[in-house]
Amino acid sequence: MADFDADVAVIGLGAFGASTLWRLAARGVDVLGFERHTPGHAFGSSHGGSRMFRTACLEHPGLVDLARLSLDLWRELEKASGDDLFTASGGLLAGPRQGHLVPAALAVARAHGVEAELLDADEVRRRFPAHGSLPDGHAAVWEPGAGLVRPEASIRAAVAVASDAGARVHADARVVAVEPGPDHVRIRTAVREFRVRQVVGTAGAWLGGLVPGLPLAAVRMPMTWFAARPEAADDFRLARFPAFIRELDDGTSLWGHGTVRAGEDVKLGLEDGGSTFDVVDAESLDRGFRRADWTGVGERLPAALPGLETVPARGEICLFTRTPDRQFVLGRPGGDPRVVVGGGCSGHGFKHATGVGEVLAALVVGEEPPVGVGFADPDRFLR
Ligand SMILES: Cc1cc2nc3c(=O)[nH]c(=O)nc-3n(C[C@H](O)[C@H](O)[C@H](O)COP(=O)(O)OP(=O)(O)OC[C@H]3O[C@@H](n4cnc5c(N)ncnc54)[C@H](O)[C@@H]3O)c2cc1C
Repeated sequence: MADFDADVAVIGLGAFGASTLWRLAARGVDVLGFERHTPGHAFGSSHGGSRMFRTACLEHPGLVDLARLSLDLWRELEKASGDDLFTASGGLLAGPRQGHLVPAALAVARAHGVEAELLDADEVRRRFPAHGSLPDGHAAVWEPGAGLVRPEASIRAAVAVASDAGARVHADARVVAVEPGPDHVRIRTAVREFRVRQVVGTAGAWLGGLVPGLPLAAVRMPMTWFAARPEAADDFRLARFPAFIRELDDGTSLWGHGTVRAGEDVKLGLEDGGSTFDVVDAESLDRGFRRADWTGVGERLPAALPGLETVPARGEICLFTRTPDRQFVLGRPGGDPRVVVGGGCSGHGFKHATGVGEVLAALVVGEEPPVGVGFADPDRFLR
């Protein structure tokens, strides 16, 4: 090992990278982690306090096994770190019976044996009063095992557990160049160079700048928090207003969840409809929260969730990384034995972060990944 600083370097310790670092360190791999900010920060794709977890993944059938693997690993990470990371609130996917959400959720649950229940509009309105305006003709798929994962805490936990297992973490260390050589990769930060045998690129919205040739677009995505009207506050507690996605009659979808603690506001957002949000340069992102960032949600609330105020209490800007087919990129671009990538979250990646970490770690050490991820092959765009 004389010429090498480590066997592996993971670049970007956000959702995917922190988990990969953990799963590599758990295998005893000599691994370095680089993060340009402090792990658990608010400048990438993994802040805002919560992410929805569900096993009924509509985005690709292959994601169901990845979600199951991830849930086991979320529980393992909780145990290893002693932190509370996953809240099983259950999850509701609601909308028109013939819309794009409910039939797809039902089909995936049935095809993969995901525990789920189809509720008619009456039942939804009775069990979840905040959705009391759900029109007749709408329905919902209720997944009791769905819930919320805490992104910042999860990233910090994975980095801490990885460090305890021997990973060496360089925080506030931006990687400025990744230069593959014949049998090594040279990594440069502002202060020094590192030589490793393999590199894992998990730089989120910045991944395309580090590993060229991947068709990744960074998308600016607002998150908003709305106060419940005093008389409706009880209906917006998480137990009565669990994690949800709700397709509206205009074809758009609202997502969000209720309050975990007293005094909190209700988190909401709009699904990415392809052109709903701006494609941006992640490096020069405007993180200022603007009026146009919340009006799309606010104007839908009187009809969809009338128990909420229509002007938000606050908002934050997040980023996600979109691929042309909205699937992840997981694997070795061009079959390169020195480079593994994990990214292209396309707005649905956090729930899978621990499973992705396990898959990427397996690829690094030459194991068969525990679940198939061929659908996320980075080379699919070249075919
Ligand atoms: C508003 C919003 C809501 C979402 N809701 C959900 C949801 O409910 N459920 C769900 O499953 N998913 C959801 N997602 C998607 C999910 O959050 C992402 O899939 C996930 O966070 C992506 O993780 P990542 O590791 O790719 O990126 P990040 O977590 O951003 O990690 C990338 C890291 O790389 C670092 N980095 C970048 N460049 C460098 C460099 N040169 N050197 C060193 N470090 C570098 C960054 O600082 C960052 O920490 C949502 C996303 C958004 C934006």
